[in-house]
Amino acid sequence: MQVELQAHIAFHLTGRLPQGAFDATAQSDLRPAFFAGYRDLTALRYDFPLVLVRAGDNRQSVQSLSGLIDDALREIAASGNEERVRKHAIRLEREIRKLLTEGVAGPLSELWDIAAGRIGAKADQLLSDSLSRLRGALTRDGEVVDCDMAMPFRLFQHLWQVTQDRKARKFRADINTLIMKLSDILNAEFGRSKEGLSSERLRASVGTAHQGAFDFDAMSRLLAGSTPNVPMPESRRRRVRGLLSTLRAQRFFSPASDSEKGINVGEPYSFVFEKCSDAVAAYRERLPKMIELAKAIAVARLEVHGEYSEGRHDAFFGEFGDNGLDPEDLALFPDYLICLHAADLAATESDLILQIFVADMPAKIVVQTDDLLEQSPIGSEYMISGLRSRQLVSTSIGFGAHYVLQSSSSNLFRLRDQVIRGISYLGPALFSVFSGASVAGIRPYLIAAAAAESRAFPAFTYDPSAGPDWASRFSLYANSQINLDWPQQRLDYEDEEQQLVSETLAFTLADFAACDPRCAKHFAKVPRAKWTADLAPVSEFLAREPNDVVEKVPCLLMVDSDNRLQKVVVSNKLVREARRCADAWRSLQELGGVHNSHAALLVERERKAWAEQARPATAPERKESGATAEAPAAPAAAEAATERPSDDPYIETARCTSCNECTQINDKMFGYDANKQASIINPDAGTYRQLVEAAESCQVSIIHPGKPRNPNEPGLDELIKRAESFL
Ligand code: SF4
Repeated sequence: MQVELQAHIAFHLTGRLPQGAFDATAQSDLRPAFFAGYRDLTALRYDFPLVLVRAGDNRQSVQSLSGLIDDALREIAASGNEERVRKHAIRLEREIRKLLTEGVAGPLSELWDIAAGRIGAKADQLLSDSLSRLRGALTRDGEVVDCDMAMPFRLFQHLWQVTQDRKARKFRADINTLIMKLSDILNAEFGRSKEGLSSERLRASVGTAHQGAFDFDAMSRLLAGSTPNVPMPESRRRRVRGLLSTLRAQRFFSPASDSEKGINVGEPYSFVFEKCSDAVAAYRERLPKMIELAKAIAVARLEVHGEYSEGRHDAFFGEFGDNGLDPEDLALFPDYLICLHAADLAATESDLILQIFVADMPAKIVVQTDDLLEQSPIGSEYMISGLRSRQLVSTSIGFGAHYVLQSSSSNLFRLRDQVIRGISYLGPALFSVFSGASVAGIRPYLIAAAAAESRAFPAFTYDPSAGPDWASRFSLYANSQINLDWPQQRLDYEDEEQQLVSETLAFTLADFAACDPRCAKHFAKVPRAKWTADLAPVSEFLAREPNDVVEKVPCLLMVDSDNRLQKVVVSNKLVREARRCADAWRSLQELGGVHNSHAALLVERERKAWAEQARPATAPERKESGATAEAPAAPAAAEAATERPSDDPYIETARCTSCNECTQINDKMFGYDANKQASIINPDAGTYRQLVEAAESCQVSIIHPGKPRNPNEPGLDELIKRAESFL
């Protein structure tokens, strides 16, 4: 036993593999134990693939395939054979997932047909009936995209395009109205002129069928004599013509239809770029045209209402745009979408991003990181870093005025409202996304989800338009169990005696590193015969102070390709990295108002002050004076600090993201309110186990199971232990 412990400690501290004590993991097939249930993603129903729908409002424009199929199933639920149709729908959905992993791409309608063919819909009447009913209830179509390396840019381009389409519709409606009204001004003036009232013009204005019925010479003489001919001032005529030509020549939005091409004559600009330098050059070149067009729109609005006064407005509009455009003027124009790979970001490009932010250029910048492992600048080792995107994100938040969102690609569907908000934000926005496409043989979705779960790439948003302070601007809610250093999940497995074992384990940075063969040197597989009690979960070590001396060694549970449980010792170097990661996460927690050290300090100070004042008065003079030693009212903060959570279960409803996890566990116990946010509608409608399982499933850790209501429920000891994380 002592020999094994020595060997385990030796590897943990030095990274050396004493002979016979370990198996190297470098060429092994080990995966973190939590991955055991995710070997075949095509068999699971989850957020991906997505269907990018070009119609509808912003939120409707991105759908999950499972969500669309569930909608269709609900739609036809009353028409019979519900269970059979549901089974067929799931088969079809799975086949579409398989198609995507094989590289087949296309709109949902096409993939549907291919998948239906592959599962034999032609030969099976019942299957064919189920699929055609489902197809009839399917209301949307669009390109299907899986969670792969190409998805983040594709999704952002799609949502950006939907936003620009909406902007373009409004812009075209406004500008075409102005063009028509300005044309009417000129036409009316011409109609009153000598030329406009000539017999030839009058004849041309009447259809050929009725030309014989009129004496156009007499009509011309009559109208010319009775119409006051007060000509439009030449300056106004020139101004109106100039406005028309500027409005018609705009190239910022393309015409909606061929009929509009006659009105808007300019070839449209492109607004999607792969380099900041190109976007900045285009913006600089187009800025005079933007100023000219914004000015023309403002002047035209005055003209069509007859409110333009040369004395008052000429001087003002003469200087229009000298100091650039106001945000309201800039909002008229399309935003510049810049899609960048973090790996290609040279220092100059990073500088340009910051300059774009300083200059308030209307740019939406997506920086995609494909690999979080970077080679150390002082050695050959890999570090989990994502340095470039991290620097950019923290500097951008530091400006305080720009929208910033960070997320793994696996979370993007859940964060779609925040993505749309950022794309529509009035001003620059930065989106930093980790695609997860870095480990051969593991689906990017899994790596991206592992990065998010392990806090290697946590999700957050900083939205300056949400309010004046950090509490309203900064949100961490999209992360799992935000109150904890590391999210915890239950792992069920069979031990060697085929007994079911259930453990609650944390998912740490070490688990994320264990996905990547480049980190193999930080792990040593312990042969089963040498599993000893000194092997303890790595999260236990991370919870201790670094210098605590313990007779244990950090280990991870992993599984091999047959899903057999394995244990690996983790190097001290990686444990140190994980500590740094936890520190960075705690800083984010503070920004997000979780375990805020200033607030905790204040509460502690108030609590001490209150305790001091509440101490019984012992001084003789107080007794003599007859003063009562009544305790003063406790300060509110201290009250809050000493308040004990109720034994009743509850949900922090305001933070609910409507993910359905709890309602799927028990919809009699959990229910939605009018805002589609969950609360506990009947705590006695289910078991304590369900409450604890819902708390563990809740992505935002807002379900508090309280204390068991039925003391006779089986397995309470274990459940109470699991519930401790959610007090
Ligand atoms: S309370 Fe329920 S619906 Fe709301 S986020 Fe948590 S699990 Fe999802």
